[in-house]
Amino acid sequence: MPSTYILVAGDARIGNLVAAAAGTRITAVVVGTRAVADAVAASAVATVVWLGEPGENALEAFAGPVADVVAAAAPQLVLASTRPSDRVLAGAVAARLGAPVSTMVSEVVVSGDGAQVTRGVYGGIAQEVVAVTGTAVVILDGGASGTGGDAPVEEVAAVPAGVVVVENRPAARTQVDLGRAQRIVSVGRGLKSQDDVAMVEALAAALDAETACSRPLAEGVSWFTKDRYVGITGQHVSPDLYLALGISGQLQHAVGARGAGTIVAVNTDKDCPYFKEADYCIVGDLYDVVPALTRALT
Ligand SMILES: Cc1cc2nc3c(=O)[nH]c(=O)nc-3n(C[C@H](O)[C@H](O)[C@H](O)COP(=O)(O)OP(=O)(O)OC[C@H]3O[C@@H](n4cnc5c(N)ncnc54)[C@H](O)[C@@H]3O)c2cc1C
Repeated sequence: MPSTYILVAGDARIGNLVAAAAGTRITAVVVGTRAVADAVAASAVATVVWLGEPGENALEAFAGPVADVVAAAAPQLVLASTRPSDRVLAGAVAARLGAPVSTMVSEVVVSGDGAQVTRGVYGGIAQEVVAVTGTAVVILDGGASGTGGDAPVEEVAAVPAGVVVVENRPAARTQVDLGRAQRIVSVGRGLKSQDDVAMVEALAAALDAETACSRPLAEGVSWFTKDRYVGITGQHVSPDLYLALGISGQLQHAVGARGAGTIVAVNTDKDCPYFKEADYCIVGDLYDVVPALTRALT
């Protein structure tokens, strides 16, 4: 049976990775707390190798020990989630293994001596399928935690080397992880003034949603921080609900929200491009629609 290794350095949400590796023997390699290792063991994996907590070491310092574990099995697949910590570890391990890395992956099929990987290109506008011979390192959405499994956890003493964290300090601006948001209220140039951001935030609060925007509102006028704009050069999001207010829906924005379950667009222009891909289209002035929705929800 082909084998897959799943690298875990963040939390234990690996449901999509386990699903992608169906039909292979899955080993999870965890750098993190014992609690994370135990939670991973509850997913449908065959075994967990726990290398301990990083402590003051950066995750890259575990690249050697993790690569040793993986290389011994020469698996077809090494999977990691899109969480920053998992990507860091996967990249460092791929370098050790000399393996190619695929990001923005939507599908993986294991073949006899490697894997076929479908991945997004040009910011997600198109997809390409590549065949990898040997070990493929693949980054895809982690998904929710699996449950019901009871894999054995093998503790392996790792000697991290090379990279130590010498200082931690808060970033100059708040980084928002829109990728985790279940609901997003996003606004574009239909908004006329920075003062009106509060109106949008009130709707977001009523929906228990994150706020986001099109690029001009973050890079043109700075009404939102740059980590809140969605699109080809911004964040790619996949909430259950994406509410697009006064956003025309040009391709560079729209591709960033194509993972959304339901898209609702509000626009005064009945011919705006977003109406061609939204699930629900409201032809209307956001200055009428937003307060009305907020009132209805509170
Ligand atoms: C290389 C490149 C990369 C880019 N990357 C990104 C990216 O990652 N993300 C991104 O967002 N953009 C990106 N852009 C910019 C993108 O092409 C668009 O210019 C941008 O998305 C337009 O933003 P918008 O929809 O808010 O503004 P507009 O296109 O100006 O649309 C405003 C919309 O608001 C509507 N409107 C006006 N008043 C109201 C009202 N009162 N109520 C309701 N609706 C109203 C209008 O009818 C219009 O449809 C990129 C561009 C380039 C060249």
